[in-house]
Amino acid sequence: MKPDTDGNQQLFQRAQKVIPGGVNSPVRAFKAVGGTPRFVKRAQGAYFWDANDQRYTDYIGSWGPMILGHGHPAVVEAVQKACLEGFSFGAPTEREVELAEEILSLVPSMDMVRLVSSGTEAGMSAIRLARGATGRSKILKFEGCYHGHADALLVKAGSGLATFGHATSAGVPAEVVQHTLVLEYNNVQQLEEAFGLHGKELACVMIEPIAGNMNFVRASLPFMQRCRELCTQHRALFVFDEVMTGFRVGLHSAQGVYAKAIPGFAPDITVLGKVIGGGMPLAAFGGKRAVMEQLAPLGPVYQAGTLSGNPVATACGLATLREIRKPGFYEELARKTQKLMAGLKGAADQAGVPFSVDSEGGMFGFFLFDTLPQNYAKVMTTDNKRFNTFFHGMLEKGFYFAPALYEAGFMSAAHTDDDIAATVAAAQDAFKLLHSKPSY
Ligand SMILES: *Cc1c(COP(=O)(O)O)cnc(C)c1O
Repeated sequence: MKPDTDGNQQLFQRAQKVIPGGVNSPVRAFKAVGGTPRFVKRAQGAYFWDANDQRYTDYIGSWGPMILGHGHPAVVEAVQKACLEGFSFGAPTEREVELAEEILSLVPSMDMVRLVSSGTEAGMSAIRLARGATGRSKILKFEGCYHGHADALLVKAGSGLATFGHATSAGVPAEVVQHTLVLEYNNVQQLEEAFGLHGKELACVMIEPIAGNMNFVRASLPFMQRCRELCTQHRALFVFDEVMTGFRVGLHSAQGVYAKAIPGFAPDITVLGKVIGGGMPLAAFGGKRAVMEQLAPLGPVYQAGTLSGNPVATACGLATLREIRKPGFYEELARKTQKLMAGLKGAADQAGVPFSVDSEGGMFGFFLFDTLPQNYAKVMTTDNKRFNTFFHGMLEKGFYFAPALYEAGFMSAAHTDDDIAATVAAAQDAFKLLHSKPSY
């Protein structure tokens, strides 16, 4: 479509005058892939429609929350009812208690949970809690894991294990990240060395158990097991950031997946978001009673929020959780996700394109490599141009995958086998472009 008749282009130009980069979260700007972001008018089920009324099959689902698809009738009804009862009170409600009970019944490592409004807020609060509960300052994270944009977490690795991180954003003073150590994901040796040097000072180790912010990379079992052992041994808290994986990879989240392989496995603190709000601003963090009781008003660790536990958001989250706990929900979701991955792999093989896939529940990743990468550095060796050619090839046919090679993808309950077949058929053509057309 020509720019003067392209509604997306018109909106993007207008947006750029009043919003930095035209977007309220950077990845939406399509900077990594080039081209014009699609401005969404409305969505239903597995689809959304852009400003030109072009339909897309949605494999982002708001970056994970829309696990039921858009506009699920039971969720819409719950939200409409809640709206009529009031938007926000700044006083406790029964629905917050119900949602807390529902979450705790599905995540046995948590005895108590506090509700907040975004994953960033939950992750930031979890770190403060870990520091307050242990009386220690240092934290350890892994390269390629995203835990929201709190200052102390916007860090890349320093020059060695003895040096702490460097800020990855302007506006973050060096003093603020001087306590954050950044290690390579899935590197057991580095982990052991770091604990040897700093174990006694560590408040917590924070991890995305299945990392979805470097496409899709699993923590290996030996790595996960070693993290757990070293945390226990050194009395550091093990914090699972399940903002993305929580209720996305399975009914018991990623910790349920690891507990199946490592008997008795559990993190100390869990951070949730995305799915638990069903598309509304809602997130949470929780853990063992003794740790959670350190929070105000019971304990000395301050944490608060005007809109925390918002009655409309909790209604949306509750209705979503009640759907996903129905028998067979995750089996069907995983079946479709695997079918899509197998289809894409088959199409890539046919076109002679190196390709590898992985998925868990309704979350997936694919790579333009023969083998699955194990860490961020490897993921980032992806040929950007080839990825972008594939991305735009799919987008032009109406299939919306993440507009950056370091993001995961998401299946919803609303996607049908026909949607998947159509996606695979489009991919057969898109993969051919990787041989011929110079890319974006
Ligand atoms: C999305 C995400 C966050 C941040 O959540 P927001 O609601 O965007 O602040 C934190 N951690 C992980 C693993 C995420 O995927």
